[in-house]
Amino acid sequence: MSLALSGIGVSRGVAIGKAHVIMRGSIDVVAVSIPADRIEDEVSRFLRAIETARQQLQSTRHHIPKDTRADIAAFIDTHLLMLDDATIVTTPVEHIREYGCNAEWALKLQRDAVVAVFEQMEDAYLRTRRDDVDHVINRIQRLLLDTSQGEARVDTDTLENAIVLTDNLTPAEAILLEHQGVIAFATEYGGPLSHTAILARSIQTPAIVGARGIQHYIQDGETIILDGLQGLLIAAPDESTLAYYLEKQKKEQQRNAELTTLTERPAVTLDNIPVTLMANIELPDDIEAVSRENASGVGLYRTEFLFMNRSTPPDEEEQYERYMAVIEALKGKPLTIRTLDMGADREINSTTSCSNPALGLRAIRLCLKDLPLFRPQLCAILRASVHGPVRMMIPMLSNTKELNQVLTLISETKNSLLRRNLSFSPDIMIGCMIEVPAAALSAADFASQVDFLSIGTNDLIQYTLAIDRVDDEVNYLYDPLHPAVLKLIKMTIEAGRSAGIPVAMCGEMAGDPRFTRLLLGMGLSEFSMQPTALQEVKQVINSSSIAQLTPQVDELLNHTAPDRVPGLVDRLNTHD
Ligand code: PEP
Ligand code: MG
Repeated sequence: MSLALSGIGVSRGVAIGKAHVIMRGSIDVVAVSIPADRIEDEVSRFLRAIETARQQLQSTRHHIPKDTRADIAAFIDTHLLMLDDATIVTTPVEHIREYGCNAEWALKLQRDAVVAVFEQMEDAYLRTRRDDVDHVINRIQRLLLDTSQGEARVDTDTLENAIVLTDNLTPAEAILLEHQGVIAFATEYGGPLSHTAILARSIQTPAIVGARGIQHYIQDGETIILDGLQGLLIAAPDESTLAYYLEKQKKEQQRNAELTTLTERPAVTLDNIPVTLMANIELPDDIEAVSRENASGVGLYRTEFLFMNRSTPPDEEEQYERYMAVIEALKGKPLTIRTLDMGADREINSTTSCSNPALGLRAIRLCLKDLPLFRPQLCAILRASVHGPVRMMIPMLSNTKELNQVLTLISETKNSLLRRNLSFSPDIMIGCMIEVPAAALSAADFASQVDFLSIGTNDLIQYTLAIDRVDDEVNYLYDPLHPAVLKLIKMTIEAGRSAGIPVAMCGEMAGDPRFTRLLLGMGLSEFSMQPTALQEVKQVINSSSIAQLTPQVDELLNHTAPDRVPGLVDRLNTHD
């Protein structure tokens, strides 16, 4: 009989192949006291491990084929950068000298301290950067302990068509495995926002994370099926299960081929209404995916990534250059730059701490409190606006007083640029993100003062339903179809329409094809998403009629019992 194990599907696709189990187990580190005359030898041993880790990563980077996307190399660069970071290199050396302990223990002490800082970050994406720290530190620990030389066991002869099952995988390892013929992977740990999960989606390798206990149920070499959409691993498949998944795999392949043909086509509904499909980016390198997927522009540039992994924030000039590079790469397509969205983040301001960071000094609240941090960004964005169609977007506004403060600061900044003989576009569009229920309820007030609105559903859902978006315990309550969430989205779209300004959506909901028809029927005309989701959403748009959807969605929103909403949304998707 078949055995099904579940995890979180993070990259869709069906893979059928032989299991290749790589379980490295946890790294046990013990404290050993080092005699005073051997301390410097211990420091050298630690620095040698760092150097070997660096050589390994450089060699992996070197082996990435030239045509591989720049953001994949960027994952490895992030790890290489960490090997130059004082947090990972200098502090453990200080610990070895100060406590007279072994290198492994010094590194463990530092790892625990760094992870504690990451745990307090309120942003889901930033919190998952903790995985990167762990990957880099584990690599060094394994080199110190001399287990598997820091790398996943990789046996070139046996990896063709293999499905790798492992406890955890770094992005660099995932790339290597993929180049050696691995067709899918499942990990016991890791979350859907980890770099490895993002990477799997971008290289379109079916993947599951968080599949606890797989090693106990699946043997090395046995035939298994991995369904990356459902988050399922099936061992010992019987004939009918195998036939079912072979058919499903065929359909997935057809679907992918169809999606590729859509790239050059515009997003237009059956009743000829054009829809704008934009991309969300985090790093300037992501621009490549924007042009590959033929997005109409960037609907969300998360600038906080420019501020990470460094001890001081980038100054005006550095930011200006970074924004300019993105504008140039976009060749005339619009760029929506979101001002800094960080919270009580020690990387920028090491003194603030609060017990509930999601409700604390985050995003625009932090910027308005820390003008020396905010002003250079405003200057840089305004200066960059001369070189292309730039829109400035403000995150996490909860009242119009904050908006007025921002608008005043923007006009002060314009004056200061004039005094410095620096130019800016006087018509730069300013928009608000609607991410807080209070902002959605007052969307009309915001809409009357700005040029566009953009709905950030990731936060709007977390704040409406009072569930921390990074807390596994309450994840089950995260529900984009909750009637309260839908009402707030609808109110925001209506407010934009009445004020005559565009309303976009840039949260994950915009890139989920299950919700595309619902959102079209609610009147949304601009979607911004992870670039790899673009063709799938376009496919739904191009097969939908807004004239048909509008009354159906009205009915669904106004006269439907909450428990029937998911079923009716499914029906919208299945009926032509
Ligand atoms: C959102 O909240 O939906 C959003 C797009 O912003 P972020 O995910 O960066 O908080
Ligand atoms: Mg947000």
